[in-house]
Amino acid sequence: MGIIINGLTKKYDQQFALNKVTFSINEGEVVGLLGPNGAGKSTLMKSITNAIDFDEGDIVVNNYSVTTEAIKAKEVIGFLQENNPLYMDMYVKEYLHFVAEVRKVSKNRVDDVLLKVGLEAEQHKKIQQLSKGYKQRVGIAQAILFDPEILILDEPTNGLDPNQIIEIRELIREIGKEKTVILSTHIMQEVEALCSRVILLNNGRVIADQSIEDFKGQYQNLEEAFHALTN
Ligand code: ADP
Repeated sequence: MGIIINGLTKKYDQQFALNKVTFSINEGEVVGLLGPNGAGKSTLMKSITNAIDFDEGDIVVNNYSVTTEAIKAKEVIGFLQENNPLYMDMYVKEYLHFVAEVRKVSKNRVDDVLLKVGLEAEQHKKIQQLSKGYKQRVGIAQAILFDPEILILDEPTNGLDPNQIIEIRELIREIGKEKTVILSTHIMQEVEALCSRVILLNNGRVIADQSIEDFKGQYQNLEEAFHALTN
């Protein structure tokens, strides 16, 4: 169980977005995926969730290969994409009912999830009327609606105000207690607060895969470690 990635390579023309990326994540781990812009984080997350094809290697999610058992693999992964694409003209509850239908789960589950992500009071609003923090909650709601064992969150707190960041972080902490999570972020406090382990990408390669303590190592803090390793 968990995620096994072996020799994952993805090229755009001649450029390697991912270059022989290999690591595995155990069931129940919450892992921070770090790296400068352009390092390959989103490409990696999209490859795991089967949103894009890759050139070489394999990804196995809860024992299902994402290439040969794509549907089974997709059924165990919830994904909050970068920039959180949503149907802005839909009402919150209507949208989540739609996701429930696509994911073949009971619509009753929508009420539980609305409560869990703190969207009860907003459920009858159009998504476009929500603040960015609440839109993010809708994105998290669609990702957890079918109770996936694995959750992949691409910069879930990007662009939020400090209060919203704290609220979303708390929500992720709650969810992370029962799921395997990969979380990409540029906020090192978030990594310290939520993750037990760090995978650092640079130029499409894994350059560190360590516990938070080991990653910090001789440096003062995670920012310094990040800067030293990627600069
Ligand atoms: P990150 O998420 O770490 O910022 P990305 O995975 O978005 O990095 O990008 C990794 C590399 O792949 C970058 O050099 C980026 O320009 C390139 N890339 C990503 N998507 C595409 C695409 N659709 N077409 C061409 N190049 C792309």
